[in-house]
Amino acid sequence: MAPHSTSDPTLDPYSTILSYGFQPSATQTKSLHNPALLHRSLAHRPDTVTHASGIHLTLSSGRTIIDACGGAAVSCIGQNNDEVLAAALQQMRTVSYVHTGAYTTSSAEDLASVILDVGAPYGLEKAFFVGSGSEAMDAAMKLARQFFYEGGRPERRHFVARRQSYHGATLGAMSLSSNLARKVPYEPLLLSNVSHVGPAYAYQYQRAEESEEQYVMRLAEELDGEFQRLGPETVIAFVAEPIVGATSGCVPAPSGYFRAVREVCDRYGVLLILDEVMCGMGRCGSYFAFEQQAVVPDIMTMGKGLGGGYAPIAGVLVGRKVVKGLRDGTGMFNHGHTYQAHPLSCASALAVQKIIKRDGLVERCRDRGLFLERELREALEGRKYVGDVRGRGLFWGIEFVQNKETKRSFEPKTEFGYRVQRKAFDLGVALYPGAATVDGVRGDHVLIAPPYTVTEAELKTIVQVLREAYDAVERGVDEVS
Ligand code: PLP
Repeated sequence: MAPHSTSDPTLDPYSTILSYGFQPSATQTKSLHNPALLHRSLAHRPDTVTHASGIHLTLSSGRTIIDACGGAAVSCIGQNNDEVLAAALQQMRTVSYVHTGAYTTSSAEDLASVILDVGAPYGLEKAFFVGSGSEAMDAAMKLARQFFYEGGRPERRHFVARRQSYHGATLGAMSLSSNLARKVPYEPLLLSNVSHVGPAYAYQYQRAEESEEQYVMRLAEELDGEFQRLGPETVIAFVAEPIVGATSGCVPAPSGYFRAVREVCDRYGVLLILDEVMCGMGRCGSYFAFEQQAVVPDIMTMGKGLGGGYAPIAGVLVGRKVVKGLRDGTGMFNHGHTYQAHPLSCASALAVQKIIKRDGLVERCRDRGLFLERELREALEGRKYVGDVRGRGLFWGIEFVQNKETKRSFEPKTEFGYRVQRKAFDLGVALYPGAATVDGVRGDHVLIAPPYTVTEAELKTIVQVLREAYDAVERGVDEVS
């Protein structure tokens, strides 16, 4: 048993949610041999993808499936785009690498300019590129700490984040996260100066007697209370995802939430860091997710949709106040990775972002999202175990519950969400599975996040397969009980 086991295995945060992530489908067998590569599961070798084009993945078995989740909300213009490939090749032919301590490239400079075209009106003044969302979160934490350290307030050392969030796998980002399946074994390695407040997750946590406004007020008061407990003059930043992705299944905050927490942060001079690694770059129907929340962060991170999967890249956008703080301080951000702002990554991301802009893909994402929402609601709402259908743009989550009245999750061993995901995969559609922990019990959801180039016909197929998969799992569950 895991060291965190309790006497009730359904409440063991580690053993009940250890299986977080993609689950092998019925067509995947146990590996016959021991692959050299360390996969997430040592028991299963994942399918080999031999070819990918647009929204389709072809497997070594010869099957072609629709990738309805773009990996994990990564693929935003589809795969195998000739323009991106040409830009990447051109970059590699001209400059394949520079050390960013000494040099820069036009790809990196142009990428920053293209993004700041949207960001500058919000006071986001500088962009910094790294290789992954986790690195971006760690860089954001260091920038925020440096801002206060060099501003003569070294006593500011705490971060406050939220439960049921995911910010990454490095030790800093993992400290902010509260994805228990990924976190529990490593707790002794994590930062002790991070605490967590409740998520803005109305479906599960807004009380029946509470209005949305009262719920928002309660969450803002909780944040204020946490600042008070720590000593507000010791807090660096509050960190949140505008739309919580994988951990809770596309949960947009209730209206007014971000304005309320921004006010609390401003009251004490605490910075607001928004993590848009998953929900940003157009995914939820606006280029930045915060644009729908009527707030502006001091620092924000971006990732998946930045490079659209063509090359490893993520980034940090830094607001005016923090840039000024650095300028007035040492004038340095002494944080470097060998592969930061890598020319191949920047050239690929630049091509992706130019396509998003030129082809009006953010608007298309918003329109297709409305179509997807209608299809999902029509197909699923009213079904026995479908608790909530929620999302924005092309970023949607479906939460399954055992009891719609009480919103109680299924027993973890039922694996409702994973079964839907596996069944859908066998029927030809890849969904992203998730397992938020609600009051100590693992919940079930699947996530849909196709490329912004998805057609209405493809969305119809995705929803039809999802409904078929759901129906099969519902029948299976009812037969057993
Ligand atoms: N932040 C959020 C909201 C994410 O969803 C993720 C990854 O899923 C990360 C950060 C970490 O990004 P990466 O996996 O690229 O390190």
